[in-house]
Amino acid sequence: MSESIVPPEVRPKPAVPAKPPHVAAPSPTAPHGPSGLGGGVGVDRVPGLGHSGSGSTLLGYIGIDTIIEQMRKKTMKAGFDFNIMIVGHSGLGKSTLVNTLFKSQVSRWSSGWGGEHKIPKTVEIKAVSHVIEEGGVKMKLTVIDTPGFGDQINNENCWDPISKYINEQYEKFLKEEVNIARKKRIPDTRVHCCLYFISPTGHSLRQLDIEFMKHLSRVVNIIPVIAKSDTMTPDEKNEFKHRVRKELETYGIEYYPQNEFDDDMEDKNENDKIREAMPFAVVGSDKEFQVNGKRVLGRKTAWGVVEVENPNHCEFALLRDFLIRSHLQDLKEVTHNIHYETYRARRLNDNGGLHPISANNTQDSNL
Ligand code: GDP
Ligand code: MG
Repeated sequence: MSESIVPPEVRPKPAVPAKPPHVAAPSPTAPHGPSGLGGGVGVDRVPGLGHSGSGSTLLGYIGIDTIIEQMRKKTMKAGFDFNIMIVGHSGLGKSTLVNTLFKSQVSRWSSGWGGEHKIPKTVEIKAVSHVIEEGGVKMKLTVIDTPGFGDQINNENCWDPISKYINEQYEKFLKEEVNIARKKRIPDTRVHCCLYFISPTGHSLRQLDIEFMKHLSRVVNIIPVIAKSDTMTPDEKNEFKHRVRKELETYGIEYYPQNEFDDDMEDKNENDKIREAMPFAVVGSDKEFQVNGKRVLGRKTAWGVVEVENPNHCEFALLRDFLIRSHLQDLKEVTHNIHYETYRARRLNDNGGLHPISANNTQDSNL
């Protein structure tokens, strides 16, 4: 029926030129040619898909690359969720750092104890959400604070409420997924990243740090950071970083980005550099100072102002670039494809298939 509507002679002019100036001529040796579509097995070369047989009238731009623009538009419309958890004993600058990262007061009221910094008797979990918009893209940022962690005399198993929370979010997502009438877009409350704050002692990791990261690295992306690094001299800082990295290796703690999830050599090279620079020694601040005629976020010390965003002063900018500008999407993907998938597979297995799951029955058995 539709064929009769547009006869061949009134075919509309193509909306796009034969090859827009920004599309580079494909090289026969380029990895992204037609051979990229299935490694050359069973995929015919299609004129116009980079094969330049002379004289072909079918040569020309198809527009496959516009998928990027289409995806961009969809993402802009839908926005996305990003959930970050902060763990470490009180006073390590967790709230300050998150506020510095997202340039707002996102975790200011996350304490929720009426402003007084009382130490709760047990670990509490406080999630606070904010919608942040930049360049037309909306991000629903949830900061999950864990006041009380590591603050007790006996900190045995103080990660239990944290792992329970993480698993509950997987369970919530799974329940939505197995629903017969599932939502078009399942709200994502899963923890994409857990920033673990290491005390700048200059000595070594505490037993609690090791236990926490060892247990939790199996269920969530852990990014260890050295807190308040302005309290150490550059030499102390470098030595401490080196020692912490060695200890993490000795105890077999797999922090993010995990070696085993590197996609290819390019990924591996990029992530190797990041792994070699971790844990980032950070400084957070909400105070501005005038330095060389510019207003900068910083902290006043005996040596002068430590500028938060100056890579010669601390590694805040490295952390920010890694967390937000280069690896945010990957953090979400590893959460979905690895951590959630492990939870889901085990859950459905234990449950003998897709039986309904009770709300209180979240699993901690992998911890
Ligand atoms: P939290 O309990 O871990 O959330 O810590 P806060 O963010 O509330 O900070 C506790 C105190 O440490 C506050 O007085 C902050 O101003 C200070 N602080 C935060 N970040 C840093 C930092 O990077 N260096 C130094 N020296 N102090 C910091
Ligand atoms: Mg706090």
